This record gives sequence, C-alpha cells and structure tokens, in this order.
Amino acid sequence: MKLLFERSRPGRCESIIPPCDVEQAQFSPSLLRAAAPRLPEIAEVDLGRHYTELASQTHGVNKGFYPLGSCTMKYNPRVNEEMAALPGFTDIHPLQPAETAQGCLEVLYETERLLCEITGMDGMTMQPAAGAHGEYTGLLLIRRYHLSRGDTARTKIIVPDSAHGTNPASATMAGFTVVSVPSNAEGGVDIEALRKAVGPDTAGLMLTNPNTVGLFDPAILDITRIVHEAGGLCYYDGANLNAVMGHARPGDMGFDCVHLNLHKTFSTPHGGGGPGCGPAGCKAFLEPFLPGPRVRKEESRFTFFQPEKSMGRVRSFCGNFLVAVKALTYILTLGREGIPEASAMAVLNANYLMKKLAGHYDMAYDTLCMHEFVMSLEKQKNELGVSAMDVAKSLLDYGIHPPTMYFPLIVHEALMVEPTETESPETLDDAAEAFLSILEQARTDAAHLHGAPHHCPIGRPDEVRAARTPVLRYDFGQK
Ligand SMILES: *Cc1c(COP(=O)(O)O)cnc(C)c1O
Repeated sequence: MKLLFERSRPGRCESIIPPCDVEQAQFSPSLLRAAAPRLPEIAEVDLGRHYTELASQTHGVNKGFYPLGSCTMKYNPRVNEEMAALPGFTDIHPLQPAETAQGCLEVLYETERLLCEITGMDGMTMQPAAGAHGEYTGLLLIRRYHLSRGDTARTKIIVPDSAHGTNPASATMAGFTVVSVPSNAEGGVDIEALRKAVGPDTAGLMLTNPNTVGLFDPAILDITRIVHEAGGLCYYDGANLNAVMGHARPGDMGFDCVHLNLHKTFSTPHGGGGPGCGPAGCKAFLEPFLPGPRVRKEESRFTFFQPEKSMGRVRSFCGNFLVAVKALTYILTLGREGIPEASAMAVLNANYLMKKLAGHYDMAYDTLCMHEFVMSLEKQKNELGVSAMDVAKSLLDYGIHPPTMYFPLIVHEALMVEPTETESPETLDDAAEAFLSILEQARTDAAHLHGAPHHCPIGRPDEVRAARTPVLRYDFGQK
C-alpha cells in the first residue's frame, strides 16, 4: 500500500482553519527551523482511507480470535472507554491540588483497595506502567526490606526455568543475581532443587502460579514455606491472573508481594492499543517501602501521603491514571460474582479447546489446564518437517492470530494457546477446525505450509532485521 508521502500532492490540503485574527507572537530566528517540514499534503477523505486500510491490515481482538498465550488478549469492553472519556477524568491536570480532584483520588484509592482484596495484599502502588515495571518495583521492595534489616548478604533471586523472560530481566535490573531452578516432570517447581537452591544469600523467589505452561502448582504452600524458612521473600508474578481471580489469592498462597497487569486480566487495551499499568502490591510489613505518593482516606476526604521509608517514585505522577479508570470500571461491572465467573470461563474455554485438539496435537502436559495450554510440534517437525512456525503462519490464513511460539523454553516446538473467557463456543469450534485442517495439510502438502501465510499483506519478514533495523524514515526519493 502507498505511504502518505507517496499520496501527497502539493496544495491538496487547503487549510480549513480561519486566518489568524490576533497579533502573532514573534520568535527569535534562532528558535525557528530553516525550512518548513515536508509534511504530506492529502485530503481528509484520503487520509481517513489510508488509516482505515492500515487498520484493516492489522489483526486485533476486535478483528478475530487472538489466542496469544500468556498475553490474555480478552475483549476490552466499550463501557471502560466511555468511563475513561468522561471530562472529569480527561480534563484534570496532574499538578492540580488534591482537594480539587477528589473523584480521581477516589478512583485510585478504590482500584487499589479492590485489587488488594483480589490478590490478598494490604497495600499497592498504581505507578508502574507495565508488568515488567511492576516486577522491578516489587523486587525493589524485597531489596529495601532486607537492607532495612541490615541484611546485605541476600543477593539472589530464585526463578523457575518456566518463568516469563521478564522475571530474570527485572531481577537483574534490580541488582540481584538470578538462580534458575528446574521444573519437574509435571511442569511444577522441582521441590528438591528448590531446597538446595535456598540459603542465607536468598533474597527471594519469583513465581507465576498458574505458571507459563498453564498449570497450578499443587505444592505452592510448600514452595513459599521453604523460601520463608530460608529467610527469603516470595514474589508473585500476577501479570496473568485470569485463571485464579476470585478463586485463589497470592496472599493466601504465601506470597509477600505481587504485580498485576491491568492490560491483561483487567481488560484494558495492550499491544498497540494503549499504555499499560502494572500495579505492585504487598503485605503490610512491606508497605512503608512502597513508591509514593499514595492515596489515603481521612474521614470522607482523600489525600496524598508519602510512605515512611518510600523508595521514591517509579514513574511520574500517578502512573497511567486512565488505565486505572478502565480497570475499575471492569471490576465494578463484573462485581463479586462476575470476577470468579470470568476466570472460570477462561479455564473452561482453554480446556474445551485443548480437548478438541488433544489426540491430534501432542500436549506438553497431559492434564487439566488452567487459562492456557501448551502443545509441542516436535513430532510433526521430526516426521513431516512441519514446525510450530509453519502452523502459526498458516493460522493467519484462517484469520486467527498465532499462539505464542517457542515459549516456554522448556517445551520444544511450543505453541502456547490462551483463548480467554470472552470467546464463544462457535469461535473455539472454528479455531479447532483450523488447527485440525492445518495438521491434515501437514500430512498431504507440507510445502504449502512452508509458504504460509498465503493471504496476508506480508508473509514471512526477516524478523531479526525487522526488529533491529526497521525503516522508520521516508527518504523523499533521495536514494
Ligand atoms: C506479560 C507478562 C509479563 C510482562 O508484562 P509487560 O506488561 O509486557 O511488561 C510478565 N510476566 C508474565 C507471566 C506475563 O504474562
């Protein structure tokens, strides 16, 4: 498709702004650019078509099934957007006195309170702007806690080998050394290996439960006890709380701190759809270290306060405030019955699709799953030369976004599928049919799959070059 610069014609975009009727400000020439910017000139109707065409080439949850494991691409209800667009939320200034923004402070206070109830924590900060940012904040809590007790020997964070890649990265960023523990044959933490890994240098453990293979670790209470007995703290990666919200709470599993991804579980947009929010919560003994300012309620007024031993800010102002508005809308819309029902449906949908594919595709773990399941294409790769990548690319021809590929690393030729609760049985049936016809084609015409996708604007870009050397500038024909 043509770029805006290529569609541009001189004079095409006649200004509709009336001539200026006030005195013009004069700037010193040193502040002015030498030449006018070379902006494309294009009529409004063509501009509209350009972006509509771009949008139609982009897959989103509003366009089709999006079973991207671990990313929880659930539907983002319109009512969230309606609430976040209210002028009382959009027209405030972050520096205006708290006294004049009481409604906004109440939103922060209530969101925190409800998320604490859902996770079993006592306090929370809404500042972190992403999941990894929340992890980093949680790890700084652990760090501050040990240092405040004069314990400088605790420098290691234990991370299972099934962990999301951000876990070891955040632990390293927060100044810790990462110790990896293996998974057992059932996909859970190898308890003996954990026992050997803990010691006086253990600052804590980072864990996702259910983990990234979609399994709830039945030994979770033993795991957190072993870490606590060694003097470490337990961090819960709650980026994806979709399988357990309203049913099980990290705080009751023995975790001391947690982060959530509002842009996954709590239905706010992510990917290209908007900013994120990764609130970090903790038990009462860690609250003094939380970032500030926080909001508290004094009688019927809301005020800002700085926690006693606060680590300071991890982000400007109160974080991505409108994301909190959307998440609060979601929580209040679902309510006490709807929250556990949503996660029950997420688990049901994942098991429904898994059952339809089991026996055709090899499941990495042959058991009930939680919100997602992992298949391995290792056999097809060896016998038919068809890889997880070929299957993922072929799904695009069916209008389905590929599952997460080649993750978790402990499963070879992995495809991690997470349907989410917002998909209908018809969508899941269609998806199952697509998966099965691809498998059939793998037996009859593997070459066709190697060439997939056949019906997309682009097929198989050089992923390394696309990521490392993207072409982001227009050269105006001066090659
Ligand atoms: C998505 C995810 C993260 C990272 O969240 P970002 O917002 O992308 O930084 C961390 N852990 C798990 C388990 C996740 O699924």
